Amino acid sequence: MLLPSTDLFLRLVAENDLNKRRFHQWVFNPGMLFRTEEKWWDASSARPIPHEGLDVAAFLTKGGQLEWLTPQTRIPAAYDGIIAKLQKDFLGFSCFLRHDQFQRGPRLLYSVYGHIEPLPEHREGQALKAGDILGTLADTSQKKSPIRTHLHFSLAWIATTVPANSLNWETMNDPEAVILIDPLSLLTGAFSVMY
Ligand SMILES: [Zn+2]
Repeated sequence: MLLPSTDLFLRLVAENDLNKRRFHQWVFNPGMLFRTEEKWWDASSARPIPHEGLDVAAFLTKGGQLEWLTPQTRIPAAYDGIIAKLQKDFLGFSCFLRHDQFQRGPRLLYSVYGHIEPLPEHREGQALKAGDILGTLADTSQKKSPIRTHLHFSLAWIATTVPANSLNWETMNDPEAVILIDPLSLLTGAFSVMY
């Protein structure tokens, strides 16, 4: 099945009034990209496993300034979906959103949003429309780790045999259960990579 692109990047700009901060385009460094083994927050060591998605943390303004996302940043859903799992992660929660409308063989599409604080009314099993707000970025300033506030975004085909309570980052790295997709292949909107 050919997947439609998602306007998540555009919705992030609109939902958070980033045009008021003179948003021009998203920007990544190599350590933020899919499958990288680099850490963008710590050049002295490598990631233990290749990156399962994309880290969205910064944009360039029309004046060429680098701006970082803040903990209040509202995170919209990429497609219509069902909240399959809210899983605590090391900076906040990860929300596993299942998209039953996209099936490939014995697998369903999921989008996963890491390091967020889900809206308090959200529960597992709840249905959301594309663009509905899942939560806000988790505030990392009180954490021991020096990682800036950011959205980790993954897209994956996950086997229907994986139960909701097994949806976690360990499973995401099980190649039998999960086929990861490069999020940048489906995100519309301008971005650049700074080397
Ligand atoms: Zn990440």
